[in-house]
Amino acid sequence: MSQQPNVLLLGPPGAGKGTQSANIADEYDVPHVTTGDALRANKDMQTEHGTPRSFMEAGELVPDPVVNEIVAEALGDGEGYVLDGYPRNEEQVAYLADITTLDVVCLLSVSESELVDRLTGRRVCTECGANYHVEFDQPDEEGVCDECGGELIQRDDDTEDTVRERLRVYHETTEPVVEHYREAGVLQEIDGEQSPSAVWDTLRATIDETI
Ligand code: ADP
Ligand code: AMP
Repeated sequence: MSQQPNVLLLGPPGAGKGTQSANIADEYDVPHVTTGDALRANKDMQTEHGTPRSFMEAGELVPDPVVNEIVAEALGDGEGYVLDGYPRNEEQVAYLADITTLDVVCLLSVSESELVDRLTGRRVCTECGANYHVEFDQPDEEGVCDECGGELIQRDDDTEDTVRERLRVYHETTEPVVEHYREAGVLQEIDGEQSPSAVWDTLRATIDETI
């Protein structure tokens, strides 16, 4: 199999998908395809379904046609990637199966209370998208990205009320996606509550054993 695997990283909001996707992208030299970042960069894009902004600020899913198009374009020829934030419902699962073949499917499992703490304390770089946390992963200088010197901000949807709605949507709509891959016998579950470096060690070993 290709040394540039097609990796799908599943998990609730705050599980560490973005943090670990950066490691996967580095290690296997693959692009990080994340619908969340793509939509944030196009929040005010006019579509026949309205703009992504209103859905995102309410913690709801952006309509499938908008997101599917983003993914089809971002995956390109589908030769090696780490996909994060998609698919989030069963329609998206079916669409993805039509356009690519997955080599590795991993789920990062984290308890609900830990997710709320992680999301409400998350800070992101406005320039390069790197993730930090006010308690668990502080930058060297407060408010400044270690990687690129960019400004660190709190995402609009990382407030406690919106976080709770995003977790509700995850349980209702995205958990069946996890079950789909579990029933297909391809899901590899990883304890996402370990330290970031321990999660990475487990994840890398899992990918290496699978490809
Ligand atoms: P996701 O992409 O799944 O929403 P992130 O990777 O953005 O999640 O992580 C959410 C928050 O939790 C960030 O602030 C990040 O710094 C922090 N974080 C990520 N992994 C861990 C971990 N293993 N332990 C503690 N905090 C973590
Ligand atoms: P994330 O960065 O993955 O936490 O996503 C932030 C927000 O973007 C979500 O709450 C949704 O509003 C939207 N979004 C991201 N990915 C998808 C998707 N696959 N389907 C629908 N909406 C999405």
